[in-house]
Amino acid sequence: MKLINTLTLKFKLYILLALIIFSFLLISAIGYFNMYKMKTNLDNLYFGSFIPVGELSQLQSVYNKDITLAFYQLKSSQISPAVAAAKIDLSRQKITHIWKAYQSHFKRDYELSYLEYAHGQLMYSTAYLKRLSKAISSLDEKNIPKLSSVSLLTRINSINEVIDTILKYEQDIAKYERKMLIITYEETLYKLLAIIIFVIASTIIIVIPIFNSIQNNERSIIHASRKLEFANKKLETASITDALTELFNRRYFNLVYTRELTRCIREKKPLCFMMLDIDFFKGYNDTYGHLKGDAALKKVADTMKKTLKRPGDYLFRLGGEEFGILISNITEDKAYHMAEKLRQNIQSLEIEHKENKASDYLTTSIGLISLFPDQSSEADYIIQQADENLYKAKDSGRNRVISSTIDKELTPLNNISA
Ligand code: GH3
Ligand code: MG
Ligand code: MG
Repeated sequence: MKLINTLTLKFKLYILLALIIFSFLLISAIGYFNMYKMKTNLDNLYFGSFIPVGELSQLQSVYNKDITLAFYQLKSSQISPAVAAAKIDLSRQKITHIWKAYQSHFKRDYELSYLEYAHGQLMYSTAYLKRLSKAISSLDEKNIPKLSSVSLLTRINSINEVIDTILKYEQDIAKYERKMLIITYEETLYKLLAIIIFVIASTIIIVIPIFNSIQNNERSIIHASRKLEFANKKLETASITDALTELFNRRYFNLVYTRELTRCIREKKPLCFMMLDIDFFKGYNDTYGHLKGDAALKKVADTMKKTLKRPGDYLFRLGGEEFGILISNITEDKAYHMAEKLRQNIQSLEIEHKENKASDYLTTSIGLISLFPDQSSEADYIIQQADENLYKAKDSGRNRVISSTIDKELTPLNNISA
């Protein structure tokens, strides 16, 4: 079993196939040889015993009935000597004919010597019958009552004894052949049963590891496909995520922005877009180093996540220390309120920033644009307006939110150019 387990599935299947073919061949061979043996037994029984026994009985009947009857009919003057002689002649020919037929059957060696003796006896009796018929045919009618049956009956009895002995031989042989037939029959049954048990057992022994192999293969395929699925998801997430801040990246922004804009147009919902930029961040890097700069970027991103956590709020790192926020289904008031809250929350982190002329801490400027987009809304224009508001926030002292709405008539439809 252990050895089978170590084999490959293909090899196990080959073994199973070989086993099945071998079993069929074995069953066919055993079936063929044993059936042949049984046919020989039957032939021996039929031609070697049944038919010869019939012939021997016929032979006895000729002696005991035909000849004896003819003799007594003659003696009681029911038939003439000529008819009696003819009847005895006919019986004699019958005897010779039946005996010849009997001798033509297959004989075993041990029967031969007795058969030779029997043949002699029969020939002797036929010679006697020949003489008898000749004597009868030339018999004078007056002498008929004087005929003695002693000599004839003595010979017939002696022939009966011989035939009885041969019959006994034949019966013994028939018994033996039947016994052999039964033995072959039982042997065939046992052999076929043994092969079937062997095939079933070995099939089970081979099939169980095959099932296990298939199950293991299936398990490893499922495991591998799950791993692949997981890796794909990770890859997919990685392809749309910014590694440092774990916000969505610029590439994903291009996709989501167009999609959300189209959706808001279709559903006639308001949309707002914010651009957020850290104030004097170059100075921050210069003072505290690039690593601290990265940490600050991460903190700002985390605050964004904590402040804007509705499912429809999309947060992006658009590049460097610049972020984008896309919120659908929100009015200008609420959007402004959110932007202001975000600005305050970032300032409340109290990240020391000596180079920030707007505060002692790290701060951000936010440019916000709100609109009810429709077919005439132009994607680039909206971004440009948010950027302009950001510029205004920077220009007017930083650490503030500048918000505006878009007048629909001014914004012809165009595609975003990312
Ligand atoms: P302003 O208030 O006008 O925005 O001034 P600023 O210094 O923030 O603007 P500027 O565009 O001059 O500088 C942006 C700086 O952001 C330059 C760069 O050192 C820093 N920066 C951009 N990307 C990263 C980053 O991934 N990590 C770190 N630590 N710094 C970054
Ligand atoms: Mg900046
Ligand atoms: Mg900048």
